[in-house]
Amino acid sequence: MSKKGKTFIISGPSGVGKSTVLKALLEQRKNVYFSVSATTRPPRPGELDGVHYHFMDVESFRKWIAMEQFLEYAEYVGNFYGTPKRYVDEAMEQGKDVILDIEVQGAIQVTSKRPETVRIFIAPPSWEELERRLKARGTDSQEKIQKRLLRAKVEFQTAHTYDYFVINDTVENAVRELDAIMTAEHCKPKERMEIINGS
Ligand code: ADP
Ligand code: 5GP
Repeated sequence: MSKKGKTFIISGPSGVGKSTVLKALLEQRKNVYFSVSATTRPPRPGELDGVHYHFMDVESFRKWIAMEQFLEYAEYVGNFYGTPKRYVDEAMEQGKDVILDIEVQGAIQVTSKRPETVRIFIAPPSWEELERRLKARGTDSQEKIQKRLLRAKVEFQTAHTYDYFVINDTVENAVRELDAIMTAEHCKPKERMEIINGS
């Protein structure tokens, strides 16, 4: 086994199913740390502080920025989101793979700091299906849904810059592909040869 874990970025439009797919993936794949982001957006029904997000006000978020606590952060549809650096580094040191569910501006920041990061884009099978899922989730106003759909189209333009592209048609298919990607990334010669050579 490799000594240090790898970081995987998962980006994709709001409502595509990232949380759903990642929850299923984490149930079947061990030695993975899901990075819990900080956000200034209010919790949705059922979301727990410290589990789904670290919910905080804008003032606290700005303090974290000033104290350089974030690996990356971005503004998304009127709220701030950021990845606490410390937990990511601790998990990697423990040999765990780390999953970051972050939007594209954050993905660019992480990649420029840590180019070895693996980037995966998750897309819906169609735009109609994305809109249906956003509405079915029932957590956003019609106005927020339209903003998220608009943002989704802009984000989609960057999808070709990612290392992998997964279509979430069924949760089962998307989980199978993500699992395969993570496994394949551990089969790269550099990492395997380091294991054989004991370095
Ligand atoms: P995201 O985390 O990307 O914003 P969610 O995981 O909250 O998206 O999923 C948005 C909605 O779509 C939820 O109601 C979820 O149950 C549903 N969903 C997720 N994946 C699928 C799928 N493959 N087929 C149908 N519905 C899905
Ligand atoms: P939501 O409000 O639907 O949970 O998330 C909105 C968007 O913010 C999603 O695209 C999600 O990937 C992104 N996001 C969540 N956490 C972070 C983070 O820590 N940093 C960045 N840059 N984006 C995040």
